[in-house]
Amino acid sequence: MEELGIIICQQLHLADDAVCAGMINEYNYVLIEVLRFSPLSTYEICGVAFGCLPQADIPALRWNVTLPPSSQSAPSLAALSADDLPSQYILSVLHLADLHIDIEYKPGSNADCGRPLCCRDGLPKPGETGAGFWGDYRTCDLPQWTAESMLKYIAQNEEQIDFIYFTGDIAPHDVWQQTQDKDLNEIFFTTQLLTETFPNKKIYPCVGNHESAPPDLFPTTNATSWLYSTLANQWIDQFGLEEQTRDTILKGGYYTTTIVSKLRLISLNMNYCTENNYWLFINSTDPLGQLQWMIEWLQYAEEHLEKVHIIGHHPPRMCMVSFSWAYYSIVNRYQSTITGQFFAHTHFDEFMLFYNETNATQPISIAYITPSFTTYPNVNPGYRVYAIDIENSVSVLDHRTTILNLTATNLYNKTVWTEEYSAKSAYDMIDLSPQEWNKFVLQLENDIDGETMGLVYQYFMKSATTGAACDRMCRKKLINCNLKTARAQDATFCSEIS
Ligand SMILES: [Zn+2]
Ligand SMILES: [Zn+2]
Repeated sequence: MEELGIIICQQLHLADDAVCAGMINEYNYVLIEVLRFSPLSTYEICGVAFGCLPQADIPALRWNVTLPPSSQSAPSLAALSADDLPSQYILSVLHLADLHIDIEYKPGSNADCGRPLCCRDGLPKPGETGAGFWGDYRTCDLPQWTAESMLKYIAQNEEQIDFIYFTGDIAPHDVWQQTQDKDLNEIFFTTQLLTETFPNKKIYPCVGNHESAPPDLFPTTNATSWLYSTLANQWIDQFGLEEQTRDTILKGGYYTTTIVSKLRLISLNMNYCTENNYWLFINSTDPLGQLQWMIEWLQYAEEHLEKVHIIGHHPPRMCMVSFSWAYYSIVNRYQSTITGQFFAHTHFDEFMLFYNETNATQPISIAYITPSFTTYPNVNPGYRVYAIDIENSVSVLDHRTTILNLTATNLYNKTVWTEEYSAKSAYDMIDLSPQEWNKFVLQLENDIDGETMGLVYQYFMKSATTGAACDRMCRKKLINCNLKTARAQDATFCSEIS
């Protein structure tokens, strides 16, 4: 089977010989297990894997969660206390997304090698330039020295930061040669780098898809204990999580904790939501009971007048349909308790509106997808700082994104930073409530060819290009399928992905 897979991969020119052999070697076992134990037919497996069959049409994939009835009285905003605050009522939160530091990055090497990750070896093709010293827009991750320089810059220039959300993806994209040992070394390296750079800041992490070996594969058995036991130790000992988070981290890489009085964090392991985790082809029903666990904590938060921030790696739009729609229902039910949602994984700068399930004109929540630290692929490296109102709403007041201008950095051989934008002033918004974001999106729709829509696309690409690169179709798709759609295979606004 393994040999046959390698031959097919090579004959179809899916990748070069080394990548074919590595990928088949890594994924061979799960594919055999899925074919043996999945209740899905081969046609259905193929349909889910390649998105050519609506998941709603597959009975074995349908499930839902149980939600308590809505409470009569929503928690009073005025009841929130600010007694644990550092000194003011606005918290400053650094969000680091998708680091993907490549310690094997080699300047001058082939940056267009045809593999999932380049800039490591080989000579550039005739007429092409080699990998840039500070990084490359092509299929490459961040050199170690660029990442270190960026983190040092943040530590020196963002002293006001109160704590950090770190939403995963540590390893580089050399997915065909990922092993548990290599993965753990990369986790140790990045964890140490973050704790040394930010010695006095608490870091709240979640699990990215590249944290496992092979990437994306997170079985629901204890076969992932090699990873979760390390993460539990690192997160508690190095990042400063409370000891009481250990049980659920060991169980499935998720946890809840209190950040300050009345602000609870729920860190989800979204690898249990996505069809890229092939183990879910065997059973995808609320894996590990994570969503039902989240509902219990949201109910607790509602009853104790807490507000909740959710962090996760994959945006819920990229989850399997039942998970995605269940998550959307949960946000609907607890819309006055969930006051912040922060995701990553796409590497782009996006936001997603959630609407009332029974009235799609009524926005009820907003989620942010924070742009990546890495350049992969074709974007400038960057980071974001959120300003959180801790006194009243416990929601995002504003956010500010800073990017490294990679072209200028390579040209002048020194890091060149750009304060890319702050949401409120760039988009001329009164506040960043779901209602104001919805008004903003309606404005974009009414002036689809306008400059502001161009800016949204430019920022989506982290200023690696301009709005002119996105024509009317591209702009409509960005609005309907990204900004207005937070559910998978939801045709309400985005008929193309239905
Ligand atoms: Zn990533
Ligand atoms: Zn990812």
